Amino acid sequence: MKNTKSLYPYWITTPEDLAAIEAGLVRGQVHHLCKSAGGRDIPYVTYGEKPDYNRKANYSSACGAKDPAHYADRAGKRTTIMLIGATHGQETEGVCGIANLLSLLETGKDLRGEAVPMITEAFDALDPRLVIVPIYNMDGRCRCEPDSMIGEPHDDGGLRYWGQGTWKDGSLCGWPECKAVHPIKDAAGFLGSYYNDDGINLMHDNFFAPMAEETRALMKLIDEEAPECVIGLHGGSNSTNVLLQPDYVPQYTKEAVHTLSESIAALESNFGYKSAVLNVSDKNPGFPPPSFNLTTAIHHICGAVTSTYESNEGLDHPNRFEPEEILVRHYCLFAALFSRGWEMN
Ligand SMILES: [Zn+2]
Repeated sequence: MKNTKSLYPYWITTPEDLAAIEAGLVRGQVHHLCKSAGGRDIPYVTYGEKPDYNRKANYSSACGAKDPAHYADRAGKRTTIMLIGATHGQETEGVCGIANLLSLLETGKDLRGEAVPMITEAFDALDPRLVIVPIYNMDGRCRCEPDSMIGEPHDDGGLRYWGQGTWKDGSLCGWPECKAVHPIKDAAGFLGSYYNDDGINLMHDNFFAPMAEETRALMKLIDEEAPECVIGLHGGSNSTNVLLQPDYVPQYTKEAVHTLSESIAALESNFGYKSAVLNVSDKNPGFPPPSFNLTTAIHHICGAVTSTYESNEGLDHPNRFEPEEILVRHYCLFAALFSRGWEMN
């Protein structure tokens, strides 16, 4: 099995390697989120003291009272930001980004041994409450044997196999057909890394009556923390790294995601990277409806600016990025977040 870490030692993405980093944290604190469907521990990490947002109501009721401050009064308080890695187990790019971010916050150097002042200076200036779930879908991450999709084919034996898995007859499930059966466990031959051990795709749980313990625990954590911005770190085949627009959220939230995208693009241009910035559409998408997914659910718990960040996965396929570019593009995202890049200037 190909191993990206052997060629690029900063490509740290396995649960064992993350656990070793977490065990050595001094500035950050490690907590237990929950057990996965497969009985595996899912840790999360925090930086900065948790602010008291003077909660008087849950988010829905606060909005009903026409002021989200009844849920979280953020004025003059520390900003809470949240990152969620590996909701899909084969999408290790964000886990690598998180491992290097933890190294930066702890030592001032990343796992290449380099300082990244655009991140550390912005972080120290903001001094946020930062909540990181490095590997949310622990079952899926453990099922995926390669430590990246870098150099893998898109189809046979590559992304589609490790990601979406196979049907009982051995044929590849593929995207988006893999979502047509859910939970997929009983229909799968090889259960892809998209899913927890119960065959649940955590992006597409029933958020009003959760099927997965991972969902219940994450929703509770998000409600307790009341983050202002939450980014789920995903891989998006060989697309140029991009923040997707969330569905079923207010227009001002979509505009904030767009503003954050432009903040990232400004940083990416310093590295000579071309950026992908999606426009905000106010059109009703019509039928078939977009899914009310994890990204949308997060917004409706706490009002956060929330987005799915899709990274290039370095597949053996057109528009392939090198591992270093994948990492540095995540750095641009982190630096933009710590600069509150979602705010209009
Ligand atoms: Zn994904």
